[in-house]
Amino acid sequence: MKKLDFSDVLIEPGISLKPLTRGMVNITPNDYVPIIIANMVTTGTFDAAEIASKRKFITFLSKEYSIEEYVFNLIGIDKEYVGVTTGVRKKDVNKTLEILQTYPDMGYVNIDIANVGANIDGMINAISNIRKKYKGKIVAGNVATVKMAEILESAGADIIKIGIGSGAACLTRTEVGVGVPQLSAIMDIRAAVKIPIISDGGCVTAGDVCKAIAAGANYVMLGGMFASCKEFSEDGDYVDFFGLGSEKMYNNYVPTDKEYRPVEGRTLKVPVKNTMDSVMNQLEGALRSVCTYVGVDNINDLHDKATFIEVNHQVNRSLEQYE
Ligand code: 5GP
Repeated sequence: MKKLDFSDVLIEPGISLKPLTRGMVNITPNDYVPIIIANMVTTGTFDAAEIASKRKFITFLSKEYSIEEYVFNLIGIDKEYVGVTTGVRKKDVNKTLEILQTYPDMGYVNIDIANVGANIDGMINAISNIRKKYKGKIVAGNVATVKMAEILESAGADIIKIGIGSGAACLTRTEVGVGVPQLSAIMDIRAAVKIPIISDGGCVTAGDVCKAIAAGANYVMLGGMFASCKEFSEDGDYVDFFGLGSEKMYNNYVPTDKEYRPVEGRTLKVPVKNTMDSVMNQLEGALRSVCTYVGVDNINDLHDKATFIEVNHQVNRSLEQYE
């Protein structure tokens, strides 16, 4: 069956039962903005968590920090909006359990491996070992099919992270030929599982974030959309934004299976043109606005009320050369 991506659809304008302004829309009915800054080395930083958590945006920290870095840098940040990221290897899980001993109130533990299908037992064991010691939300991923999502749900994950091959710095689709169009992955998995889901990867614009939530995502994870923010730049002009499977990543951190891996991620230099606040403003505004177009006063109702239309021409780009 044909599967769809964000660029294949638009959200249909609906009718509101009562007058509705953007200011009347509640985008934090669960006490967080349902947007997560990705646990990539560039974006999943303590600085990002500090800035984002003040606005109730969530950050999943990079897995590459040491225990000491986690323990020291988390002092003073509000932990409700922050996730620790871990792999499934024993040493990763033990490191995470040590961090949780100091900070049992971390909002999320993000168990993140690129290909859950290749290590289902590892993922199931990691979920159960963390569950024994941790009462917060356990995120497991990434998957992109209903079958894999159901396995993670039965394994006891609280939240499933969805997305294979859709990331801005990802090369899996071109170099390995594997992936699932993100919009259909969200819709199919939403219909099959009861627990919350995160749409991870593939959002290029705030409109895509709205589409992900309208399609049924409870949270949306973003890397590339934050890649042009000055907070992630070392020299103030460019941001080094590189995929978790990029050559830069392989050179700086030791992956498993190093000699057999292809490069599955890009290494990019992105010119600085935003701040985290400007990106967060645009995202919040978009979430408010989409609710007024669809006719709901609460972001939790967007999925039930929104309808999509399939299109073959999404945006008018005729004057972009003058920007
Ligand atoms: P973005 O918002 O940039 O489109 O997507 C962010 C997501 O891309 C990350 O959260 C992660 O799941 C995925 N990703 C990051 N780096 C890589 C990579 O090198 N290879 C692949 N396959 N996915 C990546």
